[in-house]
Amino acid sequence: MIIAAILLILGIVYVGWRYPALRRTWYWPPRRGLVVLMYHHVALLTNPADEQYPFTVSPELFEKHLLFLKQKGYTTISEADILRARQLGTSPIQKPVLLTFDDGHADNYTNLFPLLKKYQVPALIFLITDQIGTPGYLTPEQIQEMQQSGLVRFGSHTCSHRRLRSLSNQEIEQEVQESKKILEEKLGTSVSSFCYPFGAGGFDKRVRPLVLKAGYVLDFSTKKGINPWPWKGKSALLRAFPRGGESLWEYHLQLTRGRSRL
Ligand SMILES: [Zn+2]
Repeated sequence: MIIAAILLILGIVYVGWRYPALRRTWYWPPRRGLVVLMYHHVALLTNPADEQYPFTVSPELFEKHLLFLKQKGYTTISEADILRARQLGTSPIQKPVLLTFDDGHADNYTNLFPLLKKYQVPALIFLITDQIGTPGYLTPEQIQEMQQSGLVRFGSHTCSHRRLRSLSNQEIEQEVQESKKILEEKLGTSVSSFCYPFGAGGFDKRVRPLVLKAGYVLDFSTKKGINPWPWKGKSALLRAFPRGGESLWEYHLQLTRGRSRL
């Protein structure tokens, strides 16, 4: 009996290893709702062994994503659309997708922004306030220009990108409140969205109330999935994570299952 069970498990592991498609989520039932996509870099990175490879989609692939969304009838929405739907409790928008970008990398200006303008697609970028203007990150001028386009909104990704769960309440409050204040001064608008560094493992029951207390209305995690639409804000938003090098079939799984891999 035990031997049969071990053989069965070994068989499953072997088949999963031999046929990677079986480790994808295509056999899960598709879900409808608010899809929030989590990106980081938009840049050319060809070595799959690079640590940043999964977090980097090429400009060419990102353009394919935008065309795919259009072709399949998705609506690329803004932060304001989510807030409005939440306030009204209803929305006429069908198949909503929000594009989010974590960390505020410089390539979001050089590679992403031209594509957003070309296709008139809104995006939400989460900034680490300590990093603004440092090498590899967006400068205040770039941030201002993107904001003035009306296509890009900015949210907070804390001051220092530390794992909030491991900080004291006082330190968490400093991270969430101070970054909000800095961004609001820089941008001249209110900042409604917050993104937890390290996502799923980065926050717990203690952290979220402190984020909401600071005045954020939307909080974004890296927990995978698709959210109810219209969004009511009962928990942190789930996000799907299109990795660098994934196929459009895997992108389709991200949009319909909230994740491409098991
Ligand atoms: Zn981050």
